[in-house]
Amino acid sequence: MTTAQIPRTDDELKELAEQAGRDLEDASALEILQWAVDTFGDGFCVTSSMEDAVVAHLASRVREGVDVVFLDTGYHFPETIGTRDAVEAVMDVNVITLTPRQTVAEQDAEYGPQLHDRDPDLCCKLRKVQPLERGLTAYQAWATGLRRDESPTRANTPVVGWDAKRRKVKVSPIARWTQDDVDAYVLQHGVLTNPLLMDGYASVGCEPCTRRVLEGEDARAGRWAGRAKTECGLHG
Ligand code: SF4
Repeated sequence: MTTAQIPRTDDELKELAEQAGRDLEDASALEILQWAVDTFGDGFCVTSSMEDAVVAHLASRVREGVDVVFLDTGYHFPETIGTRDAVEAVMDVNVITLTPRQTVAEQDAEYGPQLHDRDPDLCCKLRKVQPLERGLTAYQAWATGLRRDESPTRANTPVVGWDAKRRKVKVSPIARWTQDDVDAYVLQHGVLTNPLLMDGYASVGCEPCTRRVLEGEDARAGRWAGRAKTECGLHG
C-alpha cells in the first residue's frame, strides 16, 4: 500500500494540514513539496494555470513525473495552451488536462453567448470550479502557485492549509515568495513562462476576462477588471 492509499478521515487530514502549515511556515518551497510528496505520494498533484511552470518545476525536482493538472476552460489565450504543450514536451512531469462538461459552443447554446460577461461566477463554476473538483477526486492534496504578495485576498495564504470546500490538503509552496523570487528562480533554472508575461500581462487567465496591468496596479488587477470579482472560485 502506498502512502497515498492510507485512508485518512477529513478531521485527520485537516489536523495534519494545519499542523504542517505551522511547522513549515519557514521552510523552503522544496522542503514543503518534499513533505507533500512524502506524506501523500500518488495522492498529491500540482495545479498550474500555465502562467509559468515554477511550481511544476520545483515539484519535478522532488518527484520525477509528478502529476501537473491544467484546467482547459476553452477560453485560454493560444500562448497559454502553447505553454502547456511546451511544459508537457520538455519537463519531467505528467500533464493532465481537465475540461468542462460542455464545450464553449454547447454552453453558449444552453446559457446564451458570452456568459463570462453576464454571469462570470456561473461561467467560472462551469468551466473551472466543477472540472477541478472532478479532477481532484483522485488526490488527497494539491499544490498551487498562490503567493501572498499577489493581492490582498491572498495575503494570508498558508504554506499548507485545509481546503474545506474540496476536503483536500492545499499546499502553496511559494506562498512567501515575492515576484522577485519568482523572476530569480525562472532565470536561474530556465523555467518556461507564458509569453504574455513579457507583453504587459502580470496574471494570465481566460482571454475574455484578462487585460494587461497598468503601472502601480497589483498583479491581479487585470483579472475581471471593472468587476467586483477577484477570484474564480478555485481559491475562495
Ligand atoms: Fe469564464 Fe472568464 Fe471564468 Fe474563464 S475566467 S471561466 S471565461 S468567467
